Amino acid sequence: MSEYMQTYQVKRVLSHNPGLKSFRFDRVIEAEPGQFVLAWLPGVDEKPFALSGVFEHEIEITIKAVGPFTNQFMNVQAGDWVGLRGPFGNGFQPIEGMVLVGGGIGNAPLRYLAQRLREERLAFRWVIGVKTAEDLAFRDELESMPECMIISEDGSIGKKGRAVDVLAAMHDNEPIIVLAASGPEAMLLSVHGFANTFSPDIPVQLSFERYMKCAVGLCGQCCLDGTGLRICVEGPVLSGHQLQGVTEWGRPHRGPSGRRPK
Ligand SMILES: Cc1cc2nc3c(=O)[nH]c(=O)nc-3n(C[C@H](O)[C@H](O)[C@H](O)COP(=O)(O)OP(=O)(O)OC[C@H]3O[C@@H](n4cnc5c(N)ncnc54)[C@H](O)[C@@H]3O)c2cc1C
Repeated sequence: MSEYMQTYQVKRVLSHNPGLKSFRFDRVIEAEPGQFVLAWLPGVDEKPFALSGVFEHEIEITIKAVGPFTNQFMNVQAGDWVGLRGPFGNGFQPIEGMVLVGGGIGNAPLRYLAQRLREERLAFRWVIGVKTAEDLAFRDELESMPECMIISEDGSIGKKGRAVDVLAAMHDNEPIIVLAASGPEAMLLSVHGFANTFSPDIPVQLSFERYMKCAVGLCGQCCLDGTGLRICVEGPVLSGHQLQGVTEWGRPHRGPSGRRPK
């Protein structure tokens, strides 16, 4: 794959529920966990998605239906052609002893990170947070992984609560040396806050989402105010050190017009 758009045939579709599906494409690429591709449906739009797996002959993205494009993508079937470009951005750095913290669809890139950690024989623990059991993709696979702890807000699967709530107890059990998180921004803020309660603080790698247009660093749509960091180039995974000086963290993001809501 390259930064130029090419069309690829969908090999397989895995339906986790009607609004949450994984799509495998017949394509081999070199990509870090956390990097993303732009998917294009002609006549609809082009939107960014993290890789949820990279296999010998296939790549995979996992999509949650939240709006016009992602709802349309739920109709894509094996044999259909989809435009893809990428991979883009900087991903996670796999580290021995890493603790992964995911919220909802944010667990998708962590699945590829977990795959890479296993391939490199690095130990890890993974806290998988979802609102409800319906939001969990790859349920059978994740329930059988000894590294995973599943937490749901309504208690419909795993332990009841939020992913960040269990970090303190995990740390008491076995000190956390590095955190990798992906999910809603409020969750990233909480993970960062937790990491900063220690001295020295626990290093973090946080994966951010912003409305994206060009994905190659030209348009400025996904810049983080206070630093000018571009989520599509310097991100989407940023370290705690890189985030120093960001003034818009946890505030409403720029929309399609480029304006920030008041
Ligand atoms: C680096 C990155 C990786 C992502 N990985 C995944 C993934 O693995 N799986 C997944 O389901 N989703 C992922 N997303 C989010 C996905 O791009 C949006 O859900 C999608 O663009 C929504 O489009 P829509 O037309 O369906 O909904 P819209 O009506 O456009 O938006 C619905 C919501 O999604 C937000 N959004 C819309 N477009 C974008 C955009 N281009 N970039 C960021 N946020 C947007 C909007 O602010 C709104 O809150 C990722 C986003 C980024 C930036």
